[in-house]
Amino acid sequence: MSGKPPRFPLGLQHVQPRSPARPATDVLRPQRPLHEAARDAARRVAPSGLGLDSPAVRERMVARLHADGLRCEPVLRAFAAVPRHHFVDSALATQAYEDTSLPIGLGQTISKPSVVGRMLALLFGGERAAAAGHLGRVLEIGTGCGYQAALLAQISKRVVSIERLKPLHDKARDNLAASRHPGDLRLLYGDGRLGHAPLAPYDSIVAAAGGEDIPQAWLDQLAEGGRLVAPMHDPAAGGQVLVVIDRRPEGLRRQVHDAVHFVPLKSGTA
Ligand code: SAH
Repeated sequence: MSGKPPRFPLGLQHVQPRSPARPATDVLRPQRPLHEAARDAARRVAPSGLGLDSPAVRERMVARLHADGLRCEPVLRAFAAVPRHHFVDSALATQAYEDTSLPIGLGQTISKPSVVGRMLALLFGGERAAAAGHLGRVLEIGTGCGYQAALLAQISKRVVSIERLKPLHDKARDNLAASRHPGDLRLLYGDGRLGHAPLAPYDSIVAAAGGEDIPQAWLDQLAEGGRLVAPMHDPAAGGQVLVVIDRRPEGLRRQVHDAVHFVPLKSGTA
């Protein structure tokens, strides 16, 4: 305030309104780990005002995926069942139901729901999967945080998922232990370029990382009537594209789909 000091008694114009009392529940607890507080806050309020644990938040994401053209019912049901915010860092949880990829550490990302939906719907177009109404025995390369593995577990008989980065393999294990998922889901630490021969053949193979080629081991481990969906660098397209390969009695049939952008498929483990 400028000018002369106010005289007493003060006029009403000098009286500052008192800030409203804090609600009794909003107690500051400095000893509490910050990440716990952030996670609790994220659980409580989504931008919509709904709690992130509310199925309605996931249903809205499912409705958007459907509106954008995803028509595969089992995949839509899987999206509705798996809480994506449990798979991302607590600080990012409020963005978990946006159609965006998010960092999961070590330079890797959880893929965009629309891209995951596209890959899973393509897998359902495989001969065996279409006949069975589920993806059968699945091999996933690139577990990352485990979100897609959790979706796969909803729509298959068995999932074998391989991750080459130990901290992410461990993170996925924790994430998946915390969320109940149906069926047989095996997480392996190793180089996914080699596939996993002991449990081959696979009816569905899906990769979340893209290389210069499709590793021979994946083709060898693909069952007859099975389908593989993977990103791959395509010099003709000048970038990555989604490649779909079917094993037919007469041999392998290969189709090239949308342009995509996945993290690189690397060799070895770290
Ligand atoms: N499906 C994951 C997406 C993770 S991103 C999710 O839902 O979160 C792709 C992952 O592929 C990364 O974690 C990366 O480390 C992994 N990756 C890259 N090359 C690999 C390889 N050769 N074997 C196994 N995993 C690999």
